[in-house]
Amino acid sequence: MTEPASAETASVRNPSARLIDGKAFAANLTQTIAQEVRAFHDRHQVTPGLAVVLVGNDPASEVYVRNKALQTHRAGMRSFMHMLPETTSQAELLALIGRLNHDPEIHGILVQLPLPAGLDPVAITNAIHPDKDVDGLGEVNAGRLALGQPGIVPCTPLGCLMLLKSELGGLRGLHAVIIGASNLVGRPMARLLLAEGCTVTVAHIDTRDTAALARQGDILVVATGCHGLVRGDWIKPGAAVIDVGITRISLPNGKTRLVGDVAFDEAVTRAGRITPVPGGVGPMTIACLLNNTLAAARRIVGGAA
Ligand code: NAD
Repeated sequence: MTEPASAETASVRNPSARLIDGKAFAANLTQTIAQEVRAFHDRHQVTPGLAVVLVGNDPASEVYVRNKALQTHRAGMRSFMHMLPETTSQAELLALIGRLNHDPEIHGILVQLPLPAGLDPVAITNAIHPDKDVDGLGEVNAGRLALGQPGIVPCTPLGCLMLLKSELGGLRGLHAVIIGASNLVGRPMARLLLAEGCTVTVAHIDTRDTAALARQGDILVVATGCHGLVRGDWIKPGAAVIDVGITRISLPNGKTRLVGDVAFDEAVTRAGRITPVPGGVGPMTIACLLNNTLAAARRIVGGAA
């Protein structure tokens, strides 16, 4: 009698995972947000405004904040850029945040991280009014998420969750393994997936045998900054793999390329679904920032769309 095909055999017969197109999902989401921004303006005569603060001249951060400003305009919102010199003091930055907190034209405030040495990112993040903390990184919003209360959710894990729900539908009962435990991605991701009814395992730099844990994940979210960390045989056949990592590597021809934390060519033969890098999680992060800014404007202005 022939043995029934195991999931592993099936995955080998069908070696190519479905690509999760974060770019297309984010473009649709941004279009929907733009329509809602117009409706919000018609109703309240208010245009949602996002202030982005960049201290210093880190080239990667400059690209990120310019891209955020461009997308904010595309969604029909107002963008207020504050480019401050490297020499900005903590008191000067806190004073700016204080003014933005009270500015009625501003509904969302984002301070681009990392900050130059000498500035305390925890104090700066916590100085943003919780209603305008569209990155969701302050202690009030982080605490609300930890307690399962409504609040502003960090953009990257929110984008990952949207992709997973659109791909898999309900997540209840699935085992989600998250590699990476940062406040920016891993921890809020764990809380979101727990709230969806997943069983959640979080691995980090001190975890013993991360590969063995990863192999148990129906969902595998990877956010470590170690490019190519997750090999093909770390992946449970058929799993949904979300690669948050972004690292720019140099190629022998002198050019550079963005890569993720997952060895994509190997993973694609085992996973059921996988996000590419670039074009997966990255575009969702900005779309979710716009989503959070519109939601903040709705709450601040006091009501419906
Ligand atoms: P971080 O450095 O703050 O945290 C990394 C986490 O990974 C830590 O918890 C650490 O313990 C864990 N880790 C590191 N090496 C590990 C290993 N070998 N095995 C297991 N765990 C390990 O990083 P972060 O801010 O969370 O960012 C992680 C990655 O995600 C980076 O590449 C970053 O650029 C990327 N990122 C992308 C987006 C996006 O929009 N796509 C947004 C945020 C971060």
